[in-house]
Order: sequence, then C-alpha cells, then structure tokens
Amino acid sequence: MKNIFLKRTKIVATLGPATDTPEVIKELIKTGANVFRLNTSHGSMEYHREKIRMVKETASQMGACVATLVDLQGPKIRIGNLKDEIMLKDGDKIVFKHSLEQEESSYIPVDYAGISKDVSSGSRVLIDDGKLEVKVDKVEDDKVYATVVNGGVLKSRKGLNIPGSTASLDAVTPKDIEFIKFAAEEKADLIALSFVREKEDVLLAKKYINDFNSSIPVVSKLEKPDAIKNLKEIVSVSDAIMVARGDLGIELSPVEVPICQKLIIEESNKQRKPVIVATQMLESMINEPIPTRAEASDVANAILDGADAVMLSGETSVGRFAVDAVKMMSKIAMTTENSCFYQFDTDTEPDDEITLTRQAVVFGADKMLKYVNAKAILSFSHFGYSTRLTSKLKPSAPIIMISDTEETCRKMALAWGVYSFCKKWDDTVDAGLLLKIDEFLINEIGLKNNDYVIITGSAPRLITGRTNFVRVHKIGT
Ligand code: PEP
Repeated sequence: MKNIFLKRTKIVATLGPATDTPEVIKELIKTGANVFRLNTSHGSMEYHREKIRMVKETASQMGACVATLVDLQGPKIRIGNLKDEIMLKDGDKIVFKHSLEQEESSYIPVDYAGISKDVSSGSRVLIDDGKLEVKVDKVEDDKVYATVVNGGVLKSRKGLNIPGSTASLDAVTPKDIEFIKFAAEEKADLIALSFVREKEDVLLAKKYINDFNSSIPVVSKLEKPDAIKNLKEIVSVSDAIMVARGDLGIELSPVEVPICQKLIIEESNKQRKPVIVATQMLESMINEPIPTRAEASDVANAILDGADAVMLSGETSVGRFAVDAVKMMSKIAMTTENSCFYQFDTDTEPDDEITLTRQAVVFGADKMLKYVNAKAILSFSHFGYSTRLTSKLKPSAPIIMISDTEETCRKMALAWGVYSFCKKWDDTVDAGLLLKIDEFLINEIGLKNNDYVIITGSAPRLITGRTNFVRVHKIGT
C-alpha cells in the first residue's frame, strides 16, 4: 500500500547531532517525518546551512516531499557557554552575569544583557524547561545573586525563564533577522516565531521576511500567557500555530498546559490554520527504545484534540532512538486515526465572502466522498489554499494535491492528510487530461479502474485559476 493511505497526522522532527547524516534523514522520511525543524537556538548558521541542504538533497534523491522549518530563537534567554557542567545543589549560592562565555567560575554566564534589570529580590528564575529553579536574593550592578531552590545539573545553552517578567527583549531579535535572511536564501518552507505575545509580533516577522523578498509562511509558537489572551488575533495573522508546551509550562505552569493545548487547537481549527503540538511527546525515548504509556497517550490525545501535526524535539535531535521515535509516533498516529474516537464535527459555516466559492467546493467534496466511497480527494491547486481548506475538514480519505510548483508542494507537508505531487498540468479539463489523471492514480498512487476519486480544481485553467469545480470521477470511465 502507498504511504498516503497510512498516516494522516504529520510529524515534525527536530534535527541535531543524532540526525546528522543523510542515512538517518532518509530513515526518518521513510518512517514518517514530514517536516524537518532546524532549532536555531543551537548550532551555528553554517551548521544549519549544511543540514537544510542535506535534507533537501536527501528528499530529492528519494523523490519525497518534505518541508524544512527554521525555528527562530526569539527573545529566549539562555545560559552562556560553561567551562564544564555544574552540579547545583539545593541551597547553593550562585551569581549570574551577562556574558556569552564563562571566563571565571565565580559566575554563571547568561546571554541576555538585561538580566540584572528584569529581576529583583524574590524573582523566580527557571532553567532547562523548569527542571532547575533559583530564587533571586539581590541584584548588585550587573550581578544577580541567587539561591538554588531545585538543584540539578546545569549545562551550557540551556533556556532560562523569568515567569511574569516582561523581558525587555525585541519580539524579533537581531539574531532572528539573520536567520530570516538565511531562511530566505536557503528557500526554507516555514519559519517559526518564538514567544509571540501579540499579533504585531507576527506582522513584524512577516515584514522582515518580505524585506528579504520572501513570503515564507510563519508558524507562531504560543508559549506566553499574553499569547493565550490574544489567541484569536494571533491565529488570524499566522499561517500555522505551534503549541510550544516546553516554555508554556514554565511561563504559565504545567498544570495549565492541557487546557491551553485544547483552547489553541480549537481556535486554530476554527480559523482553519494548521496546528502543531510540540515538546516532550515521547521524551523518555531520548534514552529508551519504547515510550511510557503516558507519552503514548499524550500523542494520541493531541491527535484526538484535532492537531494536524505532532513534533519531536530532543527525541530526534539528541536521542539514542531517533528513528524508533518517529516510527513509534507514526504507529500511534495511525492507530488513533483508525479508532472509533477519531471523529470531528467540521461542518462549519462559510466565513468570508472572498473565498466563498472555494469553501463551497471543498465542503461539497468532503460530502461527496462518502456517497461514492471515494478512495481520495484529488485537489489541483497553485498556492494550496483550497487544499488547506480541504485538509481542515479532516475528510475520511487522503487528499492528493497536484500543484505546478515544488514550493507549494513542500509547504503542504504540514497539512493534515495531504500528500503532494508537482506536475505541470495547468491544462483545460478534457478527455486527454482525465486519461493523464487516471494513469497517475493507477501508476503512482496504486488505485484501480472503477475506483472513485473526487476532483477539485479550477476551470478553464486546472491549476492556476481559483478553485471553482468539484467532480465525481470513476477511474477508467
Ligand atoms: C517549546 O518551548 O515547547 C518549544 C517548542 O520551543 P523551543 O524548543 O525552541 O524551546
């Protein structure tokens, strides 16, 4: 059976030392990774350049359609480079100072120049996704004196959060702008923006993207309390959303994460934007070959909540079982999608005049699918807009998109249930074209004569016009 009939939920895999070779990337693609995430918080620009090229080259050799996502660090504060890991014990007295390197062991370097301004006596400081906690005793000049509340091993470049503080960092930092330029140069497919607080943050990132003559879609990472307050507006200006549970669990509390996840997914689905659930999904697989039952349930429940994609971070970037983690996530996704609990009420009202025809066509396609027990929806699309609308209806059969541009095909790697093929078929719809379509469905997809498919596209130009027709098609007739 072709892959498109197997898994609908998309998998985002973060690259790192564990997934540094074409061989491993190839295995990740084969086992179900659809999007490769470059986490710019770690590694140099040259490292990421080599990786993005490696992914593109490997995918092209395999004839696979996968996307690359450049995840911007955003206003995230990090521990600088330590001489050695430090074992911090409860009650230990420590000193933070702004510096990228630890030149002397009398202080712990922090990469944020405003660290001594954004905290005061009594402030809580959380490190490494909240695993370590310290309480500020006093601030003197550029030094922050603190006591360890929850100890542990402190490593270089770990994230540092000051909950409740309005860190006076820009929404798009100078480093982010460099990486936006990089993403535009390397033709990345998606850019993720960290610590979005309001819609203006997203619009600012889009302005920079535009300044580099690019229109890469923006995935807004929701991980701040303000983002939850401004959820509707942020979703409306974003191209996709990520529930970034790592920082969300620190900036709010782990207790609030499950409900925030449901709220964010619900709003994203209402506004028909793809939504990714991220972080600690199969965390124990960093060191173990099988996940905990709670982790397996977490992946399944995110999918049952209506997520379009689920993400692996440490599991694939530094884990010992990167390929097994993707394989496991794929299996959980398929089992969940095939269960009786996987049902959504997607019968939404049309929501804007401009796209009314396209909405009517895709709603029609979803309904017609069931009448004839069609094997797939075949969606012809130039920019992928109608295909994305179709995806958000979570139809019961796979969506095969045919676009005339590779770029649109790759962007669709995040869209639930969509498998893309690039073909220059911008013809008028006639018997010759239907024959070509049948050959493709039989030879490349594995369908048979007399199987039904539902075709959506535009007339008179099949791909480059606005989607305006839906057709029930029986292969070979
Ligand atoms: C997160 O915080 O959950 C997240 C995905 O962001 P990062 O990995 O950049 O911290």
